[in-house]
Amino acid sequence: MYKYTKVDQKELLPFNSRYIVSLDNHVELVEALAAFCRKKGIKAGQISGIGAVSEATFRFLDPATKQYVDKTFAEQMEITSIAGNISEKDGQVYLHIHLTCSRRDYSCVGGHLLSARINGACELLIDAFHTTFVGRYADEETGLNLYKF
Ligand code: FE
Repeated sequence: MYKYTKVDQKELLPFNSRYIVSLDNHVELVEALAAFCRKKGIKAGQISGIGAVSEATFRFLDPATKQYVDKTFAEQMEITSIAGNISEKDGQVYLHIHLTCSRRDYSCVGGHLLSARINGACELLIDAFHTTFVGRYADEETGLNLYKF
């Protein structure tokens, strides 16, 4: 019915790290985040944040075909929410990020993030769980890279 791994605050507190991160203007969000995680050795964690982009590409997974359909919005948008997590797959940093952006007319677009170009600012909060293993495996049924604990 479910699988889980326990993040015991009492045990992990001395090993956890909380980073407040400001990405440079014009960088690609996923690339910059992955570089930060690699630099700090973060292999499990949680990401939240806000900011602004000039372009964002989302992926929609069609469960019937297990194929991703990509769509790019090339316009200035506010990031109203970044929600994501950090894990590892095949020994590499694996980011799973969802992004919601508001457009000039205040309508919103969003989804599973493939890439986004920062234009303005991007302010993130990253909680790293340094003693918890969170891996991934390619799941055949869903076509997703699911958690492996
Ligand atoms: Fe997703």
